[in-house]
Amino acid sequence: MNTILIIGGAGYIGSHLVKYLSKKNYRLLIVDNLSSGYVDAVLAGEFFIGDLAEKQALTQLLSHYPIDAVMHFAAHIEVAESKVRPDKYYDNNVVRTLNLLDAMVAANVKRFIFSSTAAIFGEPQYVPIDEKHPQYPINPYGRSKLMVEQILRDYDEAFGLKSVCLRYFNAAGADPEGELGERHVPETHLIPLVLQTAAGRREFITIFGEDYDTPDGTCIRDYIHINDLCQAHELALQRLLSNQPSAVYNLGNGEGFSVRQVIDTARQVTGKTIPVQIGTRRAGDPARLVADSRLARQELGWQPQYPDLKSIIADAWRWEQRL
Ligand code: UDP
Repeated sequence: MNTILIIGGAGYIGSHLVKYLSKKNYRLLIVDNLSSGYVDAVLAGEFFIGDLAEKQALTQLLSHYPIDAVMHFAAHIEVAESKVRPDKYYDNNVVRTLNLLDAMVAANVKRFIFSSTAAIFGEPQYVPIDEKHPQYPINPYGRSKLMVEQILRDYDEAFGLKSVCLRYFNAAGADPEGELGERHVPETHLIPLVLQTAAGRREFITIFGEDYDTPDGTCIRDYIHINDLCQAHELALQRLLSNQPSAVYNLGNGEGFSVRQVIDTARQVTGKTIPVQIGTRRAGDPARLVADSRLARQELGWQPQYPDLKSIIADAWRWEQRL
């Protein structure tokens, strides 16, 4: 049985992954500093409170257990915040990730799965965006993730540390069994905010700009179900465990939906009115981000099971109603 160390396993994506992998044959060790995660979201595995700032403790943990691979979800993820607090983003997303990689090298653990992002591409030069698309991130968040991708290439060459970078487009939805969901505080993501409005916990949803160069004027994004992301992580893990070379993959459905389409679909799913207000553009938002994920399908054998926006929103709605 392979032992997998999951950093940030109490957060939105990490907690879903822990549940997903717990149904397969892995031993799971979970580290989280609980800065934005929840210990009650960790439904399986052995849990340790820990922080990537503690390099020595990390090296000890990595040396003590027979760890076959590390997955890293403990990043800050808010574009707007990264613009006013670049220090926080470079410290957590770059410096602390480097601590982790150095601890791995010291402990001779050589397989790493990294949560990257569509934000590394910046303003798209074409869509759908494939892996070769030029990478000019337009905010510190995107830059922090691109820096780690670059560091990983160097660590592979110098130390033989093999990695898979998974560039998520818009991770969304919730555990289809209703046990887990998005619990960001404050919440900034579109689908949970729309559903909180449907549930009556917010008065209205603000559309950030309706003057974009898109058919209905609102931004287009590629929403991908959290469980499909989990599936991609397990396939990436299998790739590394079978000692294949490092790789990067874009993960999305390849279909874009506008902010208005998301709100309309949420109205259908929930049967609620969902009041809307038109606001100004949010800084750093490209008009259209859609993934070309053919490489992940071809090389990893990835087959999204929940590509339909309705099922993504329906699962997220089940979770919102539980709260
Ligand atoms: N958005 C919006 N109102 C909100 C939150 C988000 O109009 O209250 C828009 C946002 O401008 C973007 C899309 O919804 O075009 C998805 O935003 P989200 O923050 O969910 O994800 P991101 O694309 O930033 O990763």
